Amino acid sequence: MTTTVAFIGLGAMGYRMAAHLPKHFAQVYVWNRNFAKAQQHAQQYQSQAVPLAQIADADIIFSCLPTSQQVDEILQQIQPKAGAIWVDCTSGEPQAARAQAERLQQFEVAFLDAPVSGQTIGAENASLTFMVGGDEHAFHQARPAMQAMGQLIQHVGHSGAGFAVKAVNNMMMAMHLCAATEGFSTLKAHGVNLDKALNCINASSGQSFITQHALPERILNRSFPLTFALPLLAKDTRIAVDLVHQAKLVTPLMGLCQSLIQAAAQQQPADSDFSTAAQLYESLNKIKLE
Ligand code: NDP
Repeated sequence: MTTTVAFIGLGAMGYRMAAHLPKHFAQVYVWNRNFAKAQQHAQQYQSQAVPLAQIADADIIFSCLPTSQQVDEILQQIQPKAGAIWVDCTSGEPQAARAQAERLQQFEVAFLDAPVSGQTIGAENASLTFMVGGDEHAFHQARPAMQAMGQLIQHVGHSGAGFAVKAVNNMMMAMHLCAATEGFSTLKAHGVNLDKALNCINASSGQSFITQHALPERILNRSFPLTFALPLLAKDTRIAVDLVHQAKLVTPLMGLCQSLIQAAAQQQPADSDFSTAAQLYESLNKIKLE
């Protein structure tokens, strides 16, 4: 039996992720709000641009939208067929995943929260990490389709667990971004050469994804290329802090980091890369990281 796979949301991530599906599946439907993008995708990658209603015929439906709210809006408009699996790659809200899974269960449709990490380059190279919450049987059924776009495909627990892992991951990334920006501002204030300092730190215990990639490739070279928008990072840190509040935990660093990322997102235009959060510190300290 041929598996029909569909992809909703051809943004910075979705466009590149869906590009791999036609290599593995004979029938791949794509839909995007700005439909010209879906048509361009079809031309470029041999997917099939279809109206939203037709997406409901697919066996496995991926979505990758900014927030759970847009996923809800789409879910109101289509009803997948019984036995279908909805794999939501949005970095969404754990509570929304549980509500969506419950609602779709009535129609015998499984919902997996399956956010990804690896950035647009990981989407391009099919090397993403999928962190998946929800029904394990559905996970195993949808796994080959996720494998077409990723490297590590990890079931992490009940419905909502995938979104929780993603929010905490991005909170930790945001903390590293704040930590590295503060550290390098201090070094610059003391007249230290930042490139040489970076060489040392990347060979030492202070290193992170931020010092290895974001600092040299986005901040110190002043390119700040837009691949992951700052408002999306602010959304992720907010979800992480919501999880903290729900569990009544004491996590002062997470609260502080969320405030800083939120302040940076308010300062910058909406289409700014997450790395421009460093510019909040630059304006406060009057120190440019270059
Ligand atoms: P983009 O802003 O690039 O793309 C958003 C997509 O959602 C577009 O296809 C857009 O359609 C669509 N969309 C927006 N609003 C609506 C709506 N109301 N109804 C229907 N479609 C809508 O986002 P990304 O691809 O960067 O991010 C998508 C998700 O993936 C987010 O949750 C993000 O946090 C997460 N993520 C992003 C990463 C990155 O590096 N960029 C890395 C890992 C996760 P249109 O083209 O019409 O505007």
